[in-house]
Amino acid sequence: MIEIFGQDKIGHISVGDIIRTVHRDLLDKKRKKELMDYLNRNYRGYISLEESINSLLSREAKMLLPTEFILTLIKREIDKMPEKTLFIDGFPRELDQISYSLFFRDLINFRGDSDIFVAIDIPESVIDARMKGRVVCPKCQTPRGLELLPTKEIGYDEKTKEFYLICDNPECQDARMVAKEGDNMGIESVRERLNLDGQLIDKVFSLHGIPKILLRNTIPVKIARKYIDDYEITPKYSYQFDSKTEKIKVDQKPWIAKDDEGQEIYSLFAPPVVVGLVKQLVDLLKLKK
Ligand SMILES: [Zn+2]
Repeated sequence: MIEIFGQDKIGHISVGDIIRTVHRDLLDKKRKKELMDYLNRNYRGYISLEESINSLLSREAKMLLPTEFILTLIKREIDKMPEKTLFIDGFPRELDQISYSLFFRDLINFRGDSDIFVAIDIPESVIDARMKGRVVCPKCQTPRGLELLPTKEIGYDEKTKEFYLICDNPECQDARMVAKEGDNMGIESVRERLNLDGQLIDKVFSLHGIPKILLRNTIPVKIARKYIDDYEITPKYSYQFDSKTEKIKVDQKPWIAKDDEGQEIYSLFAPPVVVGLVKQLVDLLKLKK
């Protein structure tokens, strides 16, 4: 969206990013003071500010962050971009946050713009394959995948006869990307989260009086040719090592996965999904002439 409409019109707020940034700010004396000044003026909730901060700093323990605290942090981010259309990514994240999000626009006194829920439906097999194939750079933590999201440079380990990815970031000096612990379990390791996301979406879509958009990032194989071009489809890569020339041959073809009903589908790149979002927004906001 930002690529289409420009940075000056659209603001992207990711709740996950906010929490990581706040964690860093809390460890920096000057930034901590700024943050605490804001929180002291704006936070209101059942749990003390101090306890909320402690639960953020120790969040490895999977402790839930109090909703009122997250809301204050989102409000702080929104205060920085008053003139923009906002995408708040990763909120609501818990069932109790749905009611808050209904009145969020009024709570933060954010002009009178339309607010819309946007959910993205991704088949479990797609999430599973992406998780199982995921590798990360040990230096910059950028996630990639050998078959579904490779880097520019591929390496071949002659001892283990395995291909591997080399981080694109020049600062990482050709670091070899590695699998993350737990990812080989694939989707089962995030089953609880997925179940909760399913409940969240059901609940949000049962709401009255607020517009909703459901996006899919897939298209059934049997109708794909009518609507999309090859370059919009996520490809699956395969590799061969030619021992004579010592070169790696890269092959790609459209990746076919299955949706939750077992139907064959293609997974789409982000741009056609965003186009779908824009079309639905135009209809919802009655912008058509
Ligand atoms: Zn890296």
